[in-house]
Amino acid sequence: MNGSEFLQATQETIRVAVDTLGYSPNVYKMLRIPRRTLEVNIGVTMPDGSLETFLGYRSQHAAIFGPYKGGVRFHQNVTKDEVEALAILMSLKNSILGLPYGGAKGGVICDPLSLPQPVVEQIARGFVRGLKDMLGPYKDIPAPDINTNPRVMAWMLDEFLKGHSEFDFSVFTGKSTNIGGIEGRTAATGLGIAFIVREACKVRNISLRGATVAIQGFGNVGRGFALAVAAMGAKVVAITDATGGVYSPLGLDLQALSTHCEATRGVRGFTGADAITNAELFALPVDVLVPAAMEGQIDAQVAQTVRAAIVAEGANGPTTPDGSKVLHERGILEVPDILANAGGVTVSYFEWVQGRQGGLKWPERKVERYLDRYMVAAFNAVLATSLNYGVSMRDGANLFAVDRLAKGMAERGWVQGLK
Ligand code: NAD
Repeated sequence: MNGSEFLQATQETIRVAVDTLGYSPNVYKMLRIPRRTLEVNIGVTMPDGSLETFLGYRSQHAAIFGPYKGGVRFHQNVTKDEVEALAILMSLKNSILGLPYGGAKGGVICDPLSLPQPVVEQIARGFVRGLKDMLGPYKDIPAPDINTNPRVMAWMLDEFLKGHSEFDFSVFTGKSTNIGGIEGRTAATGLGIAFIVREACKVRNISLRGATVAIQGFGNVGRGFALAVAAMGAKVVAITDATGGVYSPLGLDLQALSTHCEATRGVRGFTGADAITNAELFALPVDVLVPAAMEGQIDAQVAQTVRAAIVAEGANGPTTPDGSKVLHERGILEVPDILANAGGVTVSYFEWVQGRQGGLKWPERKVERYLDRYMVAAFNAVLATSLNYGVSMRDGANLFAVDRLAKGMAERGWVQGLK
């Protein structure tokens, strides 16, 4: 799916939700496009002394509940439409979690993996200079996304502070703990999925202790989830990554697998487990399947082969709309990405709060406790909506998110009534 198809599909999601809720088309008109998208040209001096320009975007969707929030990605395939679609989806995600934010997203068209660090630093700093007045702790709070990390956030923060007389570090989240970041941010997305899986198991009367789990992806999200769910008593039996896959019906030794991955940069060749492909992983007779690698993995055909009772989406968009329909028809509980992987932005919110509290450090235990509370509340709200409307959890998530946004707009007078 290219950027413009992605934007159209996202807008269609909003339209369907507004129709189902019986709200006026004006609600859709207000939500279908971001409030503004700024285009930035970033001039960079290359190592050979030549000048190169890189194009970036920051899109702000709808600040109904508070300032804008969302990540910034550095990737060669970034497009304006993609950034706008992602900004809309961030509004839905923030709305589901009840965070006091509107959705935003940023992106710069570049391939940072092939660029020297000083060039990446100039891009990060130039992006922030270009956005100068658009960002702020009460305006728009960026965070890391694809190919950006605490290092990039530190450069961006430093550049932002140069243009301001106040030293407010809470304008960026996902910072290192040394400069105002929060404990537990790295593990947050995976831990959040584990909380969601625990709740989904209750719905399906599956005991989490001993429940079998298969995971696609063993990166930040997949590994964080694997460790968290195993600590809750589940048995992770299969994992695939870009190098291959491993399967052991008795359960994988995750510490040994992590050590193996650090040494060889992938799960392939791990002894004490059988090799497995992605297709085989999706078709395993497990309790829980977590796609945590890439988009578009479970299409209608793959969905026909899934034997898990629960699919919890760690990655963004791992299930196609057709795949989702098939899962629902087959009685499989699909917990959508905008709910399941929202642990990252939720802990980013706690980091922002920590900053607003004068930097008083939140202990990791407190971060986890609050994350649990937020994820459970969101899960229950989405479940109740899906049962109320007789739809899948994916559709229920969209309905719940759009309903909250619509009511906020009506209260603030952005639309004259909902009907
Ligand atoms: P990552 O780069 O750390 O890990 C990606 C993993 O996917 C790696 O293990 C990689 O080997 C694996 N992978 C790549 N190609 C594969 C293939 N063909 N088959 C099987 N595995 C393959 O990325 P991440 O941060 O873990 O993010 C994963 C997904 O979760 C992405 O869709 C991302 O947008 C989404 N997400 C991430 C966060 C976060 O906090 N990092 C938050 C929300 C959503």
